[in-house]
Amino acid sequence: MSLTNRENPKILQNFIDGLYVDPVKASSIKYIPVTTPHTGKVIAQCPVSTAEDVDKAVEAAKKAFKKWSSRTVKDRAQALIRFHNLLSTHIEELADLIILEHGKNKAEAMASISKGAETVEYAISLPQLLQGKILEVSRGVSCQDARVPLGVVASIVPFNFPIMVPFWTLPIAIATGNTLILKPSEKVPMTMNRVVSLLKEAGIPDGVINIVNGTVDAVNAICDHPDIKAVTFVGTSHVANLVSERCHKLGKRVLALGGAKNHLIASPDCNIETTSTDIVNSFSGCAGQRCMAASVLLVIGSQQALLDRICAKASNIKPGVKPGEVGPVIDQASLDKIRTYIAESEQAGAKILVDGRHWTSQNPEGFWIGPTVILHSNKDDKALHDEIFGPVLSVYQCSNKEEAIEIENGNPYGNAACIYTTTGATSEWFISRFSAGMCGVNIGVPVPREPFSFGGINRSKFGNFMDITGDGGVEFFTWRRKVTTRWGTEDLDPKLK
Ligand code: NAD
Repeated sequence: MSLTNRENPKILQNFIDGLYVDPVKASSIKYIPVTTPHTGKVIAQCPVSTAEDVDKAVEAAKKAFKKWSSRTVKDRAQALIRFHNLLSTHIEELADLIILEHGKNKAEAMASISKGAETVEYAISLPQLLQGKILEVSRGVSCQDARVPLGVVASIVPFNFPIMVPFWTLPIAIATGNTLILKPSEKVPMTMNRVVSLLKEAGIPDGVINIVNGTVDAVNAICDHPDIKAVTFVGTSHVANLVSERCHKLGKRVLALGGAKNHLIASPDCNIETTSTDIVNSFSGCAGQRCMAASVLLVIGSQQALLDRICAKASNIKPGVKPGEVGPVIDQASLDKIRTYIAESEQAGAKILVDGRHWTSQNPEGFWIGPTVILHSNKDDKALHDEIFGPVLSVYQCSNKEEAIEIENGNPYGNAACIYTTTGATSEWFISRFSAGMCGVNIGVPVPREPFSFGGINRSKFGNFMDITGDGGVEFFTWRRKVTTRWGTEDLDPKLK
């Protein structure tokens, strides 16, 4: 067995107990081809693990838990400090991997690593933040609580942020003393495959972080394993619900973040220049493959000047990986789905104000589609309701603010919503009525950074009702031991009262 990945980097392996290893059933291993979205060419093979591989990872994680959880939080944080340095010195290499397997542009790839590093920074500060509380609760009686790690925990992640989303959980899970099994997306397994070797180099002991590649079988085995104490999931709402229900049946702690359909509302008093720039960045950045991306723009009134600026800015965007350019979407299935929503909207009478479909014919290799703006006249158009997960903005002109909030409140998701306005009162009116966990004022991607936690509501989040990252993450990955203590006896003597 080797400490580093195999000579041929295209055949990926699992990472268990500090070693890259093939799945257990060596004679019948299946692989899923990993393609680069730029050209559609196969760049790696991702192994499809079985329940036996999950068992093996759990055994390693259980063994590592005994020692790891007995170390002080300060000691555990030291290893993360070393890892944080390695992340900065390897940022170019990791960004190139993200660009290759995911398709983000360079600036987006670098920014996503920096955002992942922020959760590491939060975890490094846990020696200051992880204290419980102590209080005299009766005469001579004190109560204190302390946070205790759960044991072996698991994170199942989506394709759209190969480092950032795994880092929503990994640093906090291990800094609080747990050991972790990560199931990367089979569409982008290469980046985390490299990152685990940096975690090892930083001194994270073998077995503390394990990677099991694969798809449904690996996910089901993770949910079902009696020794995995908690599961986080990020992905589509359909699978989030399946994972959440499967874990719930076993009484397992689970936090499953799902899909989104984010609404931006432009009040007539918004600043046209800043609003149009922000909206275009929000819906086309990362090729629209962000759970926080703008999806529906509700304008109050016709707002022709704003729509003209949005269309002008969106039409100017070029395909590519330089800053400001938009990369491809993840695969053929995604491209087909996006194109179908645009075609169906057109057939239903919507106007395609900016049509990005020519990118597909101009770049026949790979999975390219440019920013697209659709003006709907029919509130029932599917593109206004379903998650499309591509660079598509559906616009609807509302007659007043009441109609706008009714549409936003009527959507089953609840990840993000934003109001563009120059008036405090308008902002307050919408913020207090939005049906979304993460709200923005003049910010189309309103991600709450640490110490705040990340999470939506309704069909954007299933499972135990906590948020991911920040203090929500600490709460999720620990339980509280409460200790009530009395040492003195003299106060119990009634004569002393
Ligand atoms: P996905 O649901 O297809 O896959 C997510 C994970 O689940 C992957 O690891 C995959 O291997 C596994 N999986 C897929 N189908 C499964 C099944 N039937 N049973 C068990 N496991 C299964 O999601 P995706 O396409 O990789 O990611 C995009 C989705 O993730 C979008 O819906 C996006 O909104 C969502 N997302 C949400 C958030 C959030 O914070 N709410 C953040 C990022 C992405």
